[in-house]
Amino acid sequence: MIELHCPHCGPRNVSEFRHVGERHFRPDPGTTDPDEWRAYLYLRDNPAGWTDETWLHRAGCRRYLVVERHTVTNAVRAVRDAGDASSADVTHARAGDVQPGTTDSSA
Ligand SMILES: [Zn+2]
Repeated sequence: MIELHCPHCGPRNVSEFRHVGERHFRPDPGTTDPDEWRAYLYLRDNPAGWTDETWLHRAGCRRYLVVERHTVTNAVRAVRDAGDASSADVTHARAGDVQPGTTDSSA
């Protein structure tokens, strides 16, 4: 069982969360060029190691969280509210989007 420690709700089973994806920042649509916009929409780093990801606590506080997770071991070393970040974290997901089965709870 994977457990995430939500900063608002405490330790919870990962089944309460929705994995949104790698954390990335939206460029300003008024000043960006097509290549940068395409990279924002489609390109991800997909590292085999530590990465910052956006997760939604869909069955809890319904807040977006930033999770530092190791993609090979599923170890989690930090969870914080996405609103605490210094810059805007824009995701493609809406709070109503639920995609069961997108997380791995077998570890
Ligand atoms: Zn929560």
